[in-house]
Amino acid sequence: MFVRFRLRATLTFSSDLAGDAEEALIGLVDEANRVTFRRGVPAGTPDDMVGRITGWEVCGPSLVLTIESGPYTRAHDAIFRFKKQAMITLGRLRIGLRGISVETFTLTLEGVKPGSFHPEKIPFITDVEWEGETLHLTLTLSPADLEERVPDRIVRLIEEKLKAADYGGKAEHWELIFESRERTHPFTGDPTAEMEKRGWIKHALWRGQWIYGPQSVQLIRALETIVIEEVIGPLGFSEMIFPKLVPWEVWKRSGHAKGVYPEIYYVCTPKTRDPAYWEEVADHFKVTGEVPIEKIRERIDGPIGGLCYAQCPSFWPFIQGSTLADDCLPIRVFDRSGTSHRYESGGIHGIERVDEFHRIEILWLGTPEQTVAIADQLHEAYHRIFEEVLGLQWRCARVTPWFMAQEGMVDSSPDSCGCGARVGTTDYEALLPYSGSWLEFQNVSINGDKYPTGFGVKVQSKAECWSGCSGIGLERWTAAFLAQKGLDQEHWPARVAELTGEPKDLFRIL
Ligand code: ATP
Ligand code: ZN
Ligand code: MG
Repeated sequence: MFVRFRLRATLTFSSDLAGDAEEALIGLVDEANRVTFRRGVPAGTPDDMVGRITGWEVCGPSLVLTIESGPYTRAHDAIFRFKKQAMITLGRLRIGLRGISVETFTLTLEGVKPGSFHPEKIPFITDVEWEGETLHLTLTLSPADLEERVPDRIVRLIEEKLKAADYGGKAEHWELIFESRERTHPFTGDPTAEMEKRGWIKHALWRGQWIYGPQSVQLIRALETIVIEEVIGPLGFSEMIFPKLVPWEVWKRSGHAKGVYPEIYYVCTPKTRDPAYWEEVADHFKVTGEVPIEKIRERIDGPIGGLCYAQCPSFWPFIQGSTLADDCLPIRVFDRSGTSHRYESGGIHGIERVDEFHRIEILWLGTPEQTVAIADQLHEAYHRIFEEVLGLQWRCARVTPWFMAQEGMVDSSPDSCGCGARVGTTDYEALLPYSGSWLEFQNVSINGDKYPTGFGVKVQSKAECWSGCSGIGLERWTAAFLAQKGLDQEHWPARVAELTGEPKDLFRIL
């Protein structure tokens, strides 16, 4: 894709631009095109790639400029460089700048397949015209928008959309790292169905939500204990409690605001907590037995954010804007204080893919070397659990979500420590004998400087600050374990059976 920018703008001055002023402008325009706009541009770049004033006219105190550019000294940068020069030169003639207005701004993209994305809904785009593989976009922008480089952000957004379209169905790159030996499985049923049959769990009243009876919780807590005994304890992670209601401010910094919208559960607040304001709603329910959703919608503000989606973003405000002393690194913490919620839409299945789930999130940060070393220790500890403690048939794979690859978050360029190439996610998957498919039941991610940069966290030494996280999905662990071992403890590894204890059947339903 090749990009061209064309800007028509008016600079209005304090007096008519005649005589000396007009003479000065001739020199200014020439200087801008030959020198000012060429600053920082690689030598030999063709003229039509670089910002240049292609037309100008004086009308009383106003100077109407047309600036065109390719990718270098883009029209919206060029105008401010010119403005600076003009203020100095005309200032000497006691002429001051009164204001700038943007008349038109157009973006021309060449080499774009018609219909490959929909520019109509992108902010600031007010007119769209396709001409074969050339796309003309009219943007309505203020001078402040130009200064904020909104056109650059729009170009980046379009590039992202085109890459996403290119990527099509391939959601992520998947590369096997390890696969355990095959095992024979004493059970080949669907664990959710079997648990329901035995009264271990029951579907709750919301979609993708379960009520876990004592028997299933005994097993979930046993698995949690194994994580504590084998991973969290030996590797020195300390427990914290992260908030589970996440305001936009957090997701703006964590990057989730770039795309989490289709999967979040939104949170709203009442416009007021005055009972009189809500009386009509309560009365409606009392009389009709129905909750009046529309009346509620009128009385709430927000959404102010959403329910926890990934656990770690909510940790970062704890150290936002700080510099961490070298001697406290690496920081190793974890959270298991509450539920995560995702609107999984058609994808929900059993306890494997639910809208409300429980996860232990392990989080660490330090220098790149420390961050990578902890990820390696975690891999070893998990390996031991799945092989020796749980006896699972499992595998792990490097996955790179396409958005990560294209955000340049996966850096394969050689660096001194070789850490750059380690940024990314490893998924752990278990075989589900009943379906023959593999279930991702946890992951380990090295997130590079993404979170420290987003939340302004630095380390004392000159080293970069990096972080990592690992999400242990308890429903997924339970599903993976039961799918392979079944619900009868005689087939369970000793440690799991011991920690779980006799299943407690509290309820006798008549
Ligand atoms: P999937 O591809 O299965 O949707 P994901 O890539 O969205 O998973 P992550 O965002 O990496 O999952 O979340 C980390 C962990 O959280 C997963 O490995 C899993 O254990 C758990 N998890 C995520 N979504 C769900 C869900 N809907 N139900 C249960 N556990 C989940
Ligand atoms: Zn995380
Ligand atoms: Mg998912």
